[in-house]
Amino acid sequence: MGNPKAFMEIHRQEAGYRPIHDRIHDFGEVEQTLSTRERKQQASRCMDCGVPFCHWACPLGNKAPEWNDALYKGDWDLAYRLLNSTNPFPEFTGRICPALCEKACVLNRFNHEPTTNREDEAAITEMAFQEGFVQLHTDIQRNDKKVAVIGAGPAGLAAANDLNLMGYTVTVFEKNEAAGGLLRYGIPNFKLNKAIIDRRIKLLEQEGIEMKYNSQVSSAEILSQLCSQFAAVVLASGTPTARDLNISGRDLKGVHFALELLSQQNRVLAGMEFGKDERITAKGKDVLVIGGGDTGSDCIGTAHRQGCKSVTQIEIMPKPVEGHEDPQNPWPNWPRTLKTTSSHEEGCTRRWNINTLEFLGKDGKLTGVKVQEIDWKPNPDGGRPIMVEKGEPEILKAELVLLAMGFLKPQHPEYPENVFLCGDAANGASLVVRAMASGKEAAKKVDAFLTSQS
Ligand SMILES: Cc1cc2nc3c(=O)[nH]c(=O)nc-3n(C[C@H](O)[C@H](O)[C@H](O)COP(=O)(O)OP(=O)(O)OC[C@H]3O[C@@H](n4cnc5c(N)ncnc54)[C@H](O)[C@@H]3O)c2cc1C
Ligand code: SF4
Repeated sequence: MGNPKAFMEIHRQEAGYRPIHDRIHDFGEVEQTLSTRERKQQASRCMDCGVPFCHWACPLGNKAPEWNDALYKGDWDLAYRLLNSTNPFPEFTGRICPALCEKACVLNRFNHEPTTNREDEAAITEMAFQEGFVQLHTDIQRNDKKVAVIGAGPAGLAAANDLNLMGYTVTVFEKNEAAGGLLRYGIPNFKLNKAIIDRRIKLLEQEGIEMKYNSQVSSAEILSQLCSQFAAVVLASGTPTARDLNISGRDLKGVHFALELLSQQNRVLAGMEFGKDERITAKGKDVLVIGGGDTGSDCIGTAHRQGCKSVTQIEIMPKPVEGHEDPQNPWPNWPRTLKTTSSHEEGCTRRWNINTLEFLGKDGKLTGVKVQEIDWKPNPDGGRPIMVEKGEPEILKAELVLLAMGFLKPQHPEYPENVFLCGDAANGASLVVRAMASGKEAAKKVDAFLTSQS
């Protein structure tokens, strides 16, 4: 344990974001970093609880008390090794994990000032890369078995990494031109700089994983070929289908899925060019984001950086409770309370209990959206609450609509016994940390299966 009294003497300190007037003009990461002295002080606040709920809450079972102690004592090498023993890519979670562990921290229960695990994780990993503590595994004992991984998102990469370290010869098939899945083509650069992904992929390749890009496993026939060419196949293809809103006017120019905007913007930043007709931009437009979650928030931040005139986010469900406590889901569970992101802070009108009725347009182009305020009444039969209209419909001016209403959970046929599903493809849209944990679990299952066969 760090300093036994630190949690009483030192307050939680977050590094915070770059000032809005500065960050709004670029796609650089918004989050700042603390000094080394401040970071060690933050690590010292961890109480090394007898029952570490942080460890329980983290899907990867990260050993936060252990690495916080090493960090407090200045042993960055040990801190990284402890962190990396459960988390293959802490540089990703250190930046974009919602930190389930921090909500479950006993200090969160005590005074709503939990430890800063996520930021500690990012700091440990950056120091480890800087100081050369991230070492290549050059002593991998190879067996003679080949495994294919379909999809280079966090789930596929975590599975590939573990299988490679176990001695399997791993080939990753990825339909896109680069690795990362939604880390690269969903999450904006202002939350995760893509050079961070490139740095890790280079290491994975140096350790022996073969990455095949622009390689879509596009049919049952190709999958079946892979199943016979490889001893096992890990299917980590994510959730490709976004929830749509099939109302009148859906085909107007200016109505897009959130990922159409986000992935294109990330590709533009990577140097790709798009014709005027293909380019989706919020520049000079009133933007309406439909869907109150994190994908919607990423659209808001992107719209600001593209120079939108205004941005409004609407959500059909009621406004979540404000504050730290969630009576419906108390500590140490994740509180479903109102979340305000760095993108919301940059400016946005947020509304709840709003249903979308119709997209309106002129000459094939979107000009506005007809919406209706609603309310939710308890269902006398005990089922889902009933939606009731409130007042008159209204028209919101918009030249760009972004549909950010989640993704459909994929339905899978019965696969041969050597196919193993993981990540969002298996569980539906979730989080990077859960995808990585699921990829590691799939690697264990593949190993158990192939070991039982030999
Ligand atoms: C806009 C947005 C923002 C998000 N922000 C966060 C966040 O801040 N924090 C967080 O924890 N989570 C966030 N998430 C969720 C998180 O990104 C996902 O839960 C996670 O990426 C899922 O990982 P995965 O590997 O299962 O799938 P994906 O990341 O979707 O990767 C699947 C990969 O498989 C490839 N693929 C699909 N089909 C094929 C095929 N047939 N052949 C070959 N390749 C194929 C895809 O191209 C892709 O690269 C966000 C999601 C979105 C959409
Ligand atoms: S991966 Fe997320 S939940 Fe796990 S320790 Fe890191 S920040 Fe916490």
